[in-house]
Amino acid sequence: MEMQEWRRLAFRSVCLLVGVLLITFAGTVYSQENLKQRGNDGNRTAQTQKLSEIEHVEAHVMKREELSRLGEHYIKISKTVTGQAVSVRLDNDYMERIMTLTMKGTSVKGYGKSSVTYHKGDKTSQTDNVIQKEKISQIHEMARFTFHMNRIYEPELLESEDACYIVLRRPKEVYSHVVVIDAGHGGDDEGTGSIDWKYREKDSALKIVECLKQILDSSDIKAYYTRLDDRDVTKKDRVRLAKDAGADVLISVHCNASDAYDTTAKGVETLYSGRKETTAGDLTSRQLAKDILDGVCETTGRRRRKVIRRDQLYLMHHADVPVTIVEVGYMTNRSDMRYLKKQKNQQEIAQGIYNGLCKSLKRKERN
Ligand SMILES: [Zn+2]
Repeated sequence: MEMQEWRRLAFRSVCLLVGVLLITFAGTVYSQENLKQRGNDGNRTAQTQKLSEIEHVEAHVMKREELSRLGEHYIKISKTVTGQAVSVRLDNDYMERIMTLTMKGTSVKGYGKSSVTYHKGDKTSQTDNVIQKEKISQIHEMARFTFHMNRIYEPELLESEDACYIVLRRPKEVYSHVVVIDAGHGGDDEGTGSIDWKYREKDSALKIVECLKQILDSSDIKAYYTRLDDRDVTKKDRVRLAKDAGADVLISVHCNASDAYDTTAKGVETLYSGRKETTAGDLTSRQLAKDILDGVCETTGRRRRKVIRRDQLYLMHHADVPVTIVEVGYMTNRSDMRYLKKQKNQQEIAQGIYNGLCKSLKRKERN
């Protein structure tokens, strides 16, 4: 080979090497970008993940000596394949009062009526009015047990070698404070709106409730929500939830609008019924309404209107617990609407409702 040819070959090899390195480098950068992108997408999904009234309960694998954890009130579901833990979880849809137990990697073959038993104290039966309806179905590799319950329960899911147990406790047996939070309207019922109809009451109320949920989630108050998305909920079901949960209070969040579009009306007000005076300990609906009004006006600094007696409203008239509707501002007023649409302010309102709620619950405790 001549010297020149050597040089040419060496030059080509270097070019090839640089080329390969460049491609590898570009590939790494691309895949890192891709990962970052995916990560962001992941975050986005987490952030926009819809809140739901369905609570998930993971199973606790129980050792033999822990059998006393079962207590007196539970549903027992025998496994067809014994001696191994199957992947199991429980979904508690408290609004519908439906509990769904899903066992992965098992088949419903071999399950019969006697596989599911209901225990209360000394009594054991296949059904009781506690479980109003039950259904066993097979979905792909999963056996699914659906229980329609008579009330709301705070279930604990325990698993032993040969069975799964759903321990049933009423919310008040588990939590010292139980409340129901109602985002007004929803679905086809949009409520009122801003003058340009850009903002609907159903959405504004929900946003405040979402903020309130964040606060309540890290408190010792157990809250149930009539809705956490845009859906129709009947007034009857809203009231029923408070009853089912054995709640201490019911708070319904709304936005106001003035009649005939008098755009000057603004501020916060709360409502109570004087016709049906529901109390819990020392706490009356009127007192609850006052505490919530105080709370919201304190944190927001918005105009304080007043505690108003309204006897004809369904929610107030039918609830068996202290109940108030809080009208957080007038959507027909420019200044109120400007305030209501900002997330920071929605958090302030939620904080005010929470502060008022705590005050009310303390009054109740005194008795
Ligand atoms: Zn309303």
